[in-house]
Amino acid sequence: GSTVGILGGGQLGRMMALAGSAMGYRFITLDPADDAPCGQVAEQIKAAYDDHEAARQLASRSDVITYEFENVDAGVAEMLMAESLVPQGSRLLHTTQHRLREKRAIEAAGVRVAPYAEITSLADLEDEAGRFGYPCVLKTATGGYDGKGQWVIKGGHELAEAYDTLAGAGTELVLEQFIRFDKELSVIAARSSRGEIRTFPAAENIHVDNILHLSIVPARVPEAVLKEAEELAKAIAEGLEAVGLIAVEMFWSSVDGLYVNELAPRPHNSGHYTMEACRTSQFEQHIRAVCNLPLGDPSLMTPVVMVNVLGEHVQPLLERLGEHDEAADRHGVSPKVHLYGKQEAKDKRKMGHVNVLAADVESALAWIAETTIWRV
Ligand code: ATP
Ligand code: MG
Ligand code: MG
Repeated sequence: GSTVGILGGGQLGRMMALAGSAMGYRFITLDPADDAPCGQVAEQIKAAYDDHEAARQLASRSDVITYEFENVDAGVAEMLMAESLVPQGSRLLHTTQHRLREKRAIEAAGVRVAPYAEITSLADLEDEAGRFGYPCVLKTATGGYDGKGQWVIKGGHELAEAYDTLAGAGTELVLEQFIRFDKELSVIAARSSRGEIRTFPAAENIHVDNILHLSIVPARVPEAVLKEAEELAKAIAEGLEAVGLIAVEMFWSSVDGLYVNELAPRPHNSGHYTMEACRTSQFEQHIRAVCNLPLGDPSLMTPVVMVNVLGEHVQPLLERLGEHDEAADRHGVSPKVHLYGKQEAKDKRKMGHVNVLAADVESALAWIAETTIWRV
């Protein structure tokens, strides 16, 4: 069979390798960590992500290459494309690595983003904040994740401090209008090199401290909103000529409708629910897309709530796993546990997730509320 190389050896790479191994592919990953989750299920080249020599080795040993994070070094991407097959290319990476480029590309695909402005000076920020009103959100154009690199500005007295703090990171800045959303949604679209597009059902996402906590599917919004969200994701996948997966994060306001927040050109935490709940998982779909196979059926087979397992949840989860779960029986739910094999259970570190399959999302939510695992 063919060998798939994965740049990055985190949990997303691990779950790609697990899905692809079942299809007969071999995997090799490049990652510097001793406890890289993907390194436990695939061969690992232990080196920094921007180590050109190691990347060349990955390329020479792989028939096709993909990546599992978006901050791939541009030089490494070029080199991989010269030495091997990278169906995803580097253009989408370049676009999604920078919030301004990303927003312009989304708008060019005919889709609405939250009103924004490029900020290059404190005077700019004062002007634009005056235009958007408070609160508004200042973000670094590059490098942010889990809400790092952003500041929700509540009034004029915070402008200088917010500007100095974020401008200090040395990247460009973007100011966004604060969207008073009712729900956050995400849709993952897959597009193959042959141009076939499929979308997974929209997830309703709930964050705690800017880290994803729950993905609820079906999302609790009107049917027409679900359809529109999936259409938007399709338009973006097509407009940006994505290959592989593209995750589209959105805000939905019952008054103003849908706005796209940001994109991720890879499998997404909010798509982990697909592993047991859809006919095809996001990881299988990603492998299908980059290996130029026909895409699988993404239909939902059962309502599901995905709940993330962070470092602080591991101990209580392991304790519960050894006992008969009477509450699961009572609510008629099947909690499917996924752990990524990371050694150190540091607070807030993503260690795994549980897909709670149920007859309806209320039952799954009731089980999650009742168990003590997420009460720490
Ligand atoms: P991720 O970990 O998803 O990559 P990130 O650090 O790139 O996150 P965003 O997704 O841009 O950051 O924002 C994080 C969260 O902050 C959003 O999920 C949303 O809850 C809130 N948020 C961001 N921008 C806005 C906005 N313009 N209006 C309202 N809320 C916002
Ligand atoms: Mg982000
Ligand atoms: Mg986000």
